[in-house]
Amino acid sequence: MSRIIDIRIEALANPTASVTEAPAVIAHSSASVHGTFFLETFGCQMNEHDSEKVAGLLLARGYQQVGTPEAAGLILYNTCSIREKAAQKVFSRLGEYRGLKGEGKKIGLLGCVAQQEGEDIFSRAPWVSLVCGSASYRKLPELLAKVEAGEQRVAGLDNDTDETFETEITRRDNPWRAYLTIIEGCDKACAYCVVPFTRGPERSRDSGRILVELKQLADFGYSEVQFLGQTVNSYADPSPRKMRFSELLIEAAQVPGIRRVRFTTSHPRDFTLDIIAAMNSNAAICNHVHLPVQSGSTRVLRAMQRTYSRDEYLEKIAMIRCAKRRTAITTDVIVGFPGETNGDFDETLSLLDEVKYDGVFSFKYSPRPNTSASTMPDAIPEEEKSRRLALLQEKQRVIQSETLQSLVGEVYEVHVDGKSKKENSWYGHSSCNRVVSLTSPAPDLLGRYVKARVTGCTANSLVGEQIPIS
Ligand code: SAM
Ligand code: SF4
Repeated sequence: MSRIIDIRIEALANPTASVTEAPAVIAHSSASVHGTFFLETFGCQMNEHDSEKVAGLLLARGYQQVGTPEAAGLILYNTCSIREKAAQKVFSRLGEYRGLKGEGKKIGLLGCVAQQEGEDIFSRAPWVSLVCGSASYRKLPELLAKVEAGEQRVAGLDNDTDETFETEITRRDNPWRAYLTIIEGCDKACAYCVVPFTRGPERSRDSGRILVELKQLADFGYSEVQFLGQTVNSYADPSPRKMRFSELLIEAAQVPGIRRVRFTTSHPRDFTLDIIAAMNSNAAICNHVHLPVQSGSTRVLRAMQRTYSRDEYLEKIAMIRCAKRRTAITTDVIVGFPGETNGDFDETLSLLDEVKYDGVFSFKYSPRPNTSASTMPDAIPEEEKSRRLALLQEKQRVIQSETLQSLVGEVYEVHVDGKSKKENSWYGHSSCNRVVSLTSPAPDLLGRYVKARVTGCTANSLVGEQIPIS
């Protein structure tokens, strides 16, 4: 098994190190090309982490990362097409770099917009020379070799593969929390979603390889890891060990040096009791579950092809509420799905009252190409979607504020990941993923785990003070 190298961990010693600094590891790589690259990422955590792997791959080829497109020979955009606005943003950014090909720069489009628009991008933006979807990242070395050789239209547009994207080097940008993809793609068929089309079928990574990477992360000094997948809990180990997702969580939590194991995003259908049992068995498995519901109406859930009803979803919530530790639950909601009536929307509002989520990511439905919902009748007018979104967000604001106020007096273990501008002020995350700002007389808390007593709250976070170690 090849060695996986993480090269951002030097930032633990110097967290302000700039991304333009060439990491020492370059000297050990089999550099074939010397150049510079700029990589901008749009979209979700999975895209962020894909970019970390792409950056690692480029560094291994001898490239150096720079902080601006002007300073780069190769400009890459890792794109998101989950909603129309996200995709439009990519095209307006691409437009800004129309003239750069003439200056000898190469421009490449990666990710979901690349997969969705395919080779049409070459006609729409002839200054682009590389178009590569995430299911083809494993082929990036050969695609890059063609771009380097001067080929004008290089495309990697597989959407049916059983292989995963393995890199020897990952250039991690977050020095405190390491992201680790355990499953790529998605086999669900939600009526509104482009992901199965843009990211290809579900492919789980070998559990042995995941655990080796995790041990190396711990050796490099990481104590917190977040397993990633569009449906992370649908993980199906392809190795002979056939580890269940819950078993992988338990094994990960036992790796020496690892204090926190997170996972996102969980699909309600595959959220089973053994995951709660795993969380109960080892406190290193974080007490936070992101469980997107999308709608509180069974009728809309059916139309969305979400594979569960409101009641079935609420059974999963009841299961999580029975966990040994109070577990934070967050969700995603779409308002204005085609045919969503006022009555359906009221059911979403009542679900919020019933579950009392710790956080809600809410979106107006956006029709996407290649999805079955895009041709459904009874589209909801934009103004009505905005009205529903505002109502939903206001309800959640009130619920969240009550929850946060009820936590005053509680004690949390905080993994400190930032220094605030105010003197003696720091912030970090609890195991349940709440942001906690805290005061402490300690000269440096970055990267440390400290206990904090909650003394107040803001709209989205807790405020507290460090409890001195006795
Ligand atoms: N795999 C996750 C799940 O099963 O819920 C979701 C991944 S998706 C990248 C993140 C969120 O984007 C979804 O949960 C959904 O709320 C939102 N989303 C996806 N497609 C959308 C669309 N066409 N319009 C609006 N929101 C959308
Ligand atoms: Fe999209 Fe549904 Fe798959 Fe999530 S489970 S990525 S929403 S198709």
